[in-house]
Amino acid sequence: MNSPKFTTPSDHAYQLLGAHPPGQGWFAFDVLMPAAKRGRARLFVMAVWKTGIRKDIKTGEYWYRVPSTGSAGTSENKRTALWNGIKIAQEFELPKVAVLKDPKSKRCSMEHTFDITDVRYESDASAFWIKLKANGGKLGEAVELLDLTVLSELPQRGKLPKLSSRNAPWSRDELILALDLYMQHRESLPTKKAPEIAELSALLNQLGIILGRRHTDTYRNSEGVYMKLMNFRRLDPEYTYDGKKGLTRGNSDEVRVWALFAHDPRRLSEVAIFIRNGISEASGKDTKISYSEELEIEEAEEGKVATRVHRYRERDRRLVDTAKARALREHGRLFCTVCGFDFSKHYGEVGSGIIDVHHTKPIHTMQPGEKTKVADLVVLCSNCHRIIHSKRPWLTVDEIKSAIKIRTSVQ
Ligand SMILES: [Zn+2]
Ligand SMILES: [Zn+2]
Repeated sequence: MNSPKFTTPSDHAYQLLGAHPPGQGWFAFDVLMPAAKRGRARLFVMAVWKTGIRKDIKTGEYWYRVPSTGSAGTSENKRTALWNGIKIAQEFELPKVAVLKDPKSKRCSMEHTFDITDVRYESDASAFWIKLKANGGKLGEAVELLDLTVLSELPQRGKLPKLSSRNAPWSRDELILALDLYMQHRESLPTKKAPEIAELSALLNQLGIILGRRHTDTYRNSEGVYMKLMNFRRLDPEYTYDGKKGLTRGNSDEVRVWALFAHDPRRLSEVAIFIRNGISEASGKDTKISYSEELEIEEAEEGKVATRVHRYRERDRRLVDTAKARALREHGRLFCTVCGFDFSKHYGEVGSGIIDVHHTKPIHTMQPGEKTKVADLVVLCSNCHRIIHSKRPWLTVDEIKSAIKIRTSVQ
């Protein structure tokens, strides 16, 4: 598989496609924005990142999700701008084109341009889904395969929802907590005023503050929590088999969380406990991860809080020092457990003492209050560490070791 080559500077790529240079923006028209708003544009171009492209298992179609809000503060304006840009392009029925862009180098691959042939939206204004028709090279295997048939239910035309005052879409950890509550009360769901609903609402608000997503007073209120349980009912075969139907609205993360956990209530409740602990661990601490890190790190199966807790612990000075000291005691030098890379050997004096620490224990298996054990820490070079976190679920040390072995035995 050839991976795309990103050689064209972003502004130049847009010009080649017939649009204005967008600078730091994520889209452009062939005229400036004020003119586009008045209906003068003839073309819409936007950038897509490979990590966001999904392929439908059933139809083979490529889809790309454009969320209306994200957890990264600095990009919020760009998201809102893109949302409005797509709205204008839809309103005036403009031809829409996408180009593959590498978020790191900010360059584009002209081998990978797409026609946007369909735009659908989640009716709670949480995201647009755009359908991509590839005009060039293959995207390779890094594209995630998902069952996206649920997208066909989403509205395509009609009045697009307004962005402001809307709440951020539910994150995986929130959905896991809600599904846990749903499964506990599957037979007879609590009413809107029930204490269980109020408890979860309060917890989710705490989480919203940690993740910087709580912007409205209605954020995850009892009404919202109750509606989410109803959304799960829509997916529940025990409920839908006799023709009853739950709410039809819902998003694809719900489907994914359902598929992962609904058949395994024990694991579900372990993960839910872990997330609850993560929320209390993260409260009042700066567990933020940067936007570029967010692009590189696949979110843990257990959601955003688990991802942050993992990174936070890996950077804990005390743990890092202990793990390094242990490696030095055992081997006399620091090198990557997976590939053997030794920073001080390669870079000399300036590389001495440089190594990443990775926590190998699957986070959801940790008991409430359990501390990270030094025995569960491994030292890794930054490349191997990056690879581990680049897939969901995160890879194990053994998986990377054997990936390297297979590569080298083929050559
Ligand atoms: Zn390595
Ligand atoms: Zn790690």
